[in-house]
This record gives sequence, C-alpha cells and structure tokens, in this order.
Amino acid sequence: MLEDKDRIFTNLYGFQDWRLKAAQQRGDWDDTRALMAIGQDEIIEQVKLSGLRGRGGAGFPTGMKWSFMPKQPAADRPNFLVINADESEPGSCKDREIIRHDPHKLIEGALLAGFAMRARAAYIYIRGEFIFETKVLEDAVQEAYDAGLLGRNACKSGYDFDVFVHRGAGAYICGEETAMLESLEGKPGKPRLKPPFPAGAGLYGCPTTVNNVESIAVVPTILRRGGLWFKSFGREKNEGTKLFQISGHVNCPCVVEEAMGIPFRELIDKHAGGIRGGWDNLLAVIPGGSSVPLVPAHEIMDAPMDFDGLKDLGSGLGTAAVIVMDKSTDVVKAISRISYFYKHESCGQCTPCREGTGWMWRVMERLVTGEAEIHEIDMLHDVTKQVEGHTICALGDAAAWPIQGLIRHYRPELERRIVARQEGQLEAAE
Ligand code: SF4
Repeated sequence: MLEDKDRIFTNLYGFQDWRLKAAQQRGDWDDTRALMAIGQDEIIEQVKLSGLRGRGGAGFPTGMKWSFMPKQPAADRPNFLVINADESEPGSCKDREIIRHDPHKLIEGALLAGFAMRARAAYIYIRGEFIFETKVLEDAVQEAYDAGLLGRNACKSGYDFDVFVHRGAGAYICGEETAMLESLEGKPGKPRLKPPFPAGAGLYGCPTTVNNVESIAVVPTILRRGGLWFKSFGREKNEGTKLFQISGHVNCPCVVEEAMGIPFRELIDKHAGGIRGGWDNLLAVIPGGSSVPLVPAHEIMDAPMDFDGLKDLGSGLGTAAVIVMDKSTDVVKAISRISYFYKHESCGQCTPCREGTGWMWRVMERLVTGEAEIHEIDMLHDVTKQVEGHTICALGDAAAWPIQGLIRHYRPELERRIVARQEGQLEAAE
C-alpha cells in the first residue's frame, strides 16, 4: 500500500484549504523558478524517466508526447498546451477532486509543462457542469497571477506564460482531444480526422499538446522528487501512482491515490471497505470507466490494476474509474444503459457511429427483455466489430467494447433470457 509520505495529492479530500497560502504550506509553488532553471529539455527527460503515461485513458507516454512539439516555435504559430478537464466518462471523478481541493498542483503543473514544451499559454477546458470547480479554478488562477506566479516573467523565471479557463457546454465528445480544440475555437465539438495530429496543427492551427488534468498535476512533484522516485512505484511500463475512483457496490465508495498495479482485492479491501455483502457477492467489475469491457469477478480478484494487467484480461485501465457490480445487478440492463449513453453522445458525423450506436442500443434493449432471437447475439457482435476501428474518433470503440465484453462473458445469460421469453417464463415473471 502507498505510504502517506509518497502521496502526491495531499489535500485530495479537502480537509485543508485549497487556496494559495495553504497550497504553498503543502509544498506547491516551492521555488518553481529552480525547477524551470534545469531547462526545458531536462524537464522532458525527467518526465520520460518517470515512466508517466497519460492519465486520461489512452496511456500514451507523456514525456514522449511532449517531445513531439516544435523546439523553436514560429513567431506567428506559438505552441499551446490544452488541459483536458472535461471529465465526462461515466464512473470517472478524479479530475474534479483535484480541481476542487488541489487546484494549485494543476496550475503549477501547467506552467512547468507549458514551459517544457515552449508553450505560450495553457487552456484548461473544464466540463460545463463543474460550476463550483470552475469557480475554484478561476479563483486559484487569479491568485497565481496576483502572486506573480503566472503572466509576465512567471515565478521570476523570465518566461511569460498565461493560463485560461474555458467552460465546455456539456457534450461528452468534447473530451476527445480534437473535438475539444474545435470547441475551444468556438465551433461545434466534432472530432477532426487525424493526421494532422495536434502537435503539428492543433488549436488555431498551431502546435498543441492535449493532456489530462492528472497527468499535468503530478508533474511538479515528479520534478521535485525526481523521475526515478515516481518510477519506483508499480512495475515496468506501468509506473507511478494513480488516482483510482471506486464506485458502485462497495461499502465505502471513494477516490484514492495508490501505486499502479495494486491488486484489485487489496484496493477494494483497504480503501473501499470491501464488497457489499462480501466477496462472494461480487458479480463483475468495469475497471476503467464505462467504455472498457467488464471483467467477471473470478478473473479480476487478484489482477494488478494497471495498463497491462487489465489489457491481459481483455479490458483496460482507462481512467481507473472502477465500477463494482454485485450480484443484485442486471448486467444486461447495465450494459444496455451504457449503450444508450454512447448513442446519445455520438456527434453523428461518421456513419458507423451515428447509425451503429443506435442500432446496437436497440438490440441491447431487446436482449434485456429476451425479445431478441438467438442469432442476433452473433449479429450484434458482428456489428460491434464493424463499428470498432472504423470511425473518426474512439467513441465508436467506446460504444462497441462494453457490448463485446458482455457477449464474451455473459452469452449464457443472454440466451437464457431469450429462451425464457420464448417459453413464456419472462412474461409470467413480470
Ligand atoms: Fe462523431 Fe462518433 Fe464519428 Fe466520433 S466516432 S466523430 S463521435 S460520429
């Protein structure tokens, strides 16, 4: 278990004040100028050394991503950092906690990351529904300006850097990085075709890196304690600490920082008070937010909670939003509800997603009641494969994977409902 002395987010639960003075007492903004003085390339090297992989779901190595940015930006095409605080994935609620209680970690991280990438400014794109969090963030940014930590000659480093807070308008798809750039530019949030990638042509056509809130907020501590310190947690290619968000049928749902790779059982027992009704009552777990396939209880019990451990189980770490379902859950109905969500959030610009998400949801609804035919299970699986990988952005995959997971692990239950309906048992039960 991660010791308190190794926790990065020391005010995650808001027991202390989030404001600048209290944040400085916790170590934030402590001689930031000295951290910048090591140089832009060395900051990127330290982040590479730390093994940090993006915390927004994709898990791309952060230092490598930063190194794609031009080292000598043209005068009329400045580099930009965009921070994704749109957190809309069902189950995911960690960036919200960082912004509520530890916003200065994010703002200091924005300066350091932006400086390393030679960025002129950072835009923090925050989910529109986060009204309270937006207020906290805006106040914290203002505090940083007032203290000379941002703006001209930020932290007396000789570097000019601005931070802007931009509220979204409530579309899940704006969490996709290119849709976010469109939205920031004042257009409807519809994902762009890639290439070009944002590092080549991003915000306003300028080189841009989009990073998740958690990825940026851990950077100051990584630089203070060294990349090797961060790398000492977890296992190879899955290093560092991570915020896990445990919801559903546990005794104490919570957000907690832990070492990557902590076994699922230990994570739940130590921090979430165990499974409601005991471990024998566990049915399945969605380990990384609603877009990743569920994993049945017997497979996940002792699995390491990291990128590779969950990939080996045919699922993914995603944002580490761990949704626990006990045996009272109607698992078919749960996945059908998730299908509805993706149908609702499709931006509609590519056919497999626009048509496929609605089609998949309608079949899922009939599978819930057993009104489908047995052969439709395979047909549904085929359609998920037609959608997966054939769309502009990953929303198509996100809609397909939960259904694939359901069919892979719960086909007997789907068939049982259809047979029961045909034999009249379901109507009788209803
Ligand atoms: Fe829009 Fe869906 Fe295509 Fe993404 S996959 S661009 S959400 S239609």
